[in-house]
Amino acid sequence: MLSNQAPRRHSRLSHPALTLIGLIFFAYFAGTGILLAQSPGDVGVDDPYFPNLGNGGYDVLHYTIDARFDVEANTLQATTLIDAQAAQALSRLNLDFQRIDIGSVRVDEGEASFEQRNGELTITPAAAISEGQVFRVEVRYGGSPSSYPFQQTIADLGWYDLESHLVGMGEPAGSSTWYPVNEHPSDKATYTFRLTAPKPYMAVASGVLVERIVGADETTYVWEMRQPMASYLTLVAVGEFVEISDETADGLPIRSYAPPHLVRRAETAFARTSEIIAAYEALFGDYPFEAVGGLVVDGGFGFALETQSMPIYDGMIIRAPINLSEQFIAHELAHQWFGNSVSPATWRDIWLNEGFATYASWLWVEQSAGLSVFGNLARNSYVELRNSRRLARPGDARGPVTGDPGVEAIFDGEVIYTRGAVTLHALRLKVGDDAFFEIVRTYYDRFKFGNASTGDFIAVAEEVSGADLSDFFEGWLFEADVPLIPELES
Ligand SMILES: [Zn+2]
Repeated sequence: MLSNQAPRRHSRLSHPALTLIGLIFFAYFAGTGILLAQSPGDVGVDDPYFPNLGNGGYDVLHYTIDARFDVEANTLQATTLIDAQAAQALSRLNLDFQRIDIGSVRVDEGEASFEQRNGELTITPAAAISEGQVFRVEVRYGGSPSSYPFQQTIADLGWYDLESHLVGMGEPAGSSTWYPVNEHPSDKATYTFRLTAPKPYMAVASGVLVERIVGADETTYVWEMRQPMASYLTLVAVGEFVEISDETADGLPIRSYAPPHLVRRAETAFARTSEIIAAYEALFGDYPFEAVGGLVVDGGFGFALETQSMPIYDGMIIRAPINLSEQFIAHELAHQWFGNSVSPATWRDIWLNEGFATYASWLWVEQSAGLSVFGNLARNSYVELRNSRRLARPGDARGPVTGDPGVEAIFDGEVIYTRGAVTLHALRLKVGDDAFFEIVRTYYDRFKFGNASTGDFIAVAEEVSGADLSDFFEGWLFEADVPLIPELES
């Protein structure tokens, strides 16, 4: 993690009085030596929207998830190893883990006691862990994973039993349905997945397939994600999939997977993957991972998610008219740069994912369909925003804002996706094409494989353009009314 800076104008962390209180506390505890004592790791990382997500006191370096699946029964038997480094002396620590029964927990070869409650797994090692120590947690568990109602969101999250296949994925907190995890994007880690499936099923996961161990009745698939990955971007799927293999002009492997009856459709939908990657590389910088592709499932959930190096698409999207499915694919591929390589510092920064991915998909339209189609898309989106604002809330200055939407609006189509994209277009019109794309490239290069906040992006925009953009971003990101873009008024 490179930065956790809060948006400047709406920071709850940088108030001078709070800083002073912090300093006084630090001086007090440092003076009495309490900072040297071991203490429990926090049960959350103080995310402004989801305070219990993630856990404090350590940094995960690598997950090794070894799981054997029974597709018909929707069960797994698994051992997950978590290699981590202590950020403080730890008397106990927490992981996020939902409802599967645990058999045993070990910390560095020693049996550890544990407690499972409300999605938190609390582990007390036999001996305390010292600050800076690299340690390994081993959790053995088995049972039937299931989705769970995530706090304050409508949708159940995480695990999908689709009868002919099983799928684990979910933003912001679906991974804890099938493995114990420090479930916050600020603690990214590398992963090994050793997934065993009975024949004829195949197990697919984020990353590259490095080994296939074929047994008499089952096959083990070993997938490696060797670049840092936020937990909400992990994907696992077990089912009957056909591999569709290709590569980009630069030799990047394209590996996609689809159920047999959707292979033809998937081939058509993914046909321009290489061109989209090339367009984004020219605009943003090198593609960050070792492979690219997509997984198609017949889920009936109607959405796509940018799971790392292999976004997942519901069959409904792949069956849609090609210009629509291509927009989805361009959106999820753009997330590999914005969201996956540069991940949000907190969930308040979600527009940095969705506004960028939406705008990038417009840039693909600009390149593939021409400037006038792109121009109409940008203008129509802006006019829609202005009209919607006027009709829905006449004279009312309140409402969710893009830079701090609140939990209920983190995936709001208008506030986060459309307004996020129009904000970037307004910035482009304000500073000009050269400065705008220099801002985007600098921002990406500075925060790739890490995390960034809204404040980080604003700082880069001001640094590169040399302009004071505080009023601009205040209007677009932190006020509900839609600022005027004179160039788009007809
Ligand atoms: Zn998205």
